[in-house]
Amino acid sequence: MQNTGETYQDGIEPRKYTAESRFKFACHKGMECYTHCCSDLNITLTPYDIIRMKNRLGLTCDQFLAIYTKPEMLVRTRLPVVTLKMLDDDKKSCPFITPEGCAIYEDRPLSCRYYPLGMAAFREQEIQPTGEDFYFMVRESHCLGFQTDKEWTVREWRKDQGVEIYDEINQGWMEFMLRKKSFGFQAELSEESRKMFFMVSSNVDTLRRFIFESSFLDKYDVEKDLLEQIRTDEVVRLRFGFDWLQSALFGADKVKLKEHVLNAHKEQAQKAMKAAKTRC
Ligand code: SF4
Ligand code: SF4
Repeated sequence: MQNTGETYQDGIEPRKYTAESRFKFACHKGMECYTHCCSDLNITLTPYDIIRMKNRLGLTCDQFLAIYTKPEMLVRTRLPVVTLKMLDDDKKSCPFITPEGCAIYEDRPLSCRYYPLGMAAFREQEIQPTGEDFYFMVRESHCLGFQTDKEWTVREWRKDQGVEIYDEINQGWMEFMLRKKSFGFQAELSEESRKMFFMVSSNVDTLRRFIFESSFLDKYDVEKDLLEQIRTDEVVRLRFGFDWLQSALFGADKVKLKEHVLNAHKEQAQKAMKAAKTRC
C-alpha cells in the first residue's frame, strides 16, 4: 500500500517499510501539534539511550534508573527492560517536554528519533530471525506531520535523525534478543541469566564493578589493551558486556574462559558423566 496522503485510523499502518520505502513527513517548531506527541508513551529505552541520557543529565546509572525509568518484562522474550517513566500529571507527560520542545533533544531516545517510524525488531512478534530490518509507520490523528509534500526514504530519515550510531552500538542487545528467539520464546532464561542481561543492558556502572571488582578477570581471558578501554569507555564496555553474555549464555565464541577454568569445567563434566554411568 502506498502512502497516498489519505486518512488512516490511529495506529500502525498495515505495511512493512524497508530502507528504500518512501513517505511524506515534516516536523518542526511552530506546528500546531508541536509537542502533542510527547505524552502518555511507552518508550522502551535501549542500552545506548540510557548511556546518552544519563550522561546528558550528569547522573550515575543508578540515579537515572531510579528517577526516570520503570522496569518491565518483554512479554514474549521474557527479557527485562526499562521504560521511560511519564509524569503523574493529567496528560502523563514525558519528563523532558518543555513548551520549547524536548529538553534533551540531542540525546533523545531511539524511539523518539524513529517516530513516526518504528523498528519492527522492537515489536516482539516481528523480531526478524534473518536480522533483516523492517519498519512500520505509526499514524496518529494528533500528528499533522503527514500533511506535507516533504518526501523521505526510510534510509534518509534514519540518517537525518541520527539513528545509525544507536543501531550500531545497540547491536549486541538486538543480537541477544534474536538469539533468544532462535532458542524459542518458551526457552526460559534462569533468574540469574536475566539479572546478567539486565545489568549489561541498563547499567554500565554496575557492569564496570562486576568486571573489575569480582572474580571475573580470574575466569576470563581479556587482552590488556581491551581491558583498559573497557575500564574507561562505556560504549566499549557495553559491547564487551554483550559479547560476554552471548558467550556465557549461548556458547558464542566471543569472550574466552582462561585455560585453567576450562580444564576445571572439563574435569567436572567428566566426573559427572562417570557418576551418571555408575548409577546406570
Ligand atoms: S524524550 Fe524528548 S522527544 Fe522523546 S518523548 Fe520525551 S520530550 Fe518527546
Ligand atoms: S508533527 Fe507529529 S511528531 Fe512532529 S510535533 Fe507534531 S505530533 Fe509531534
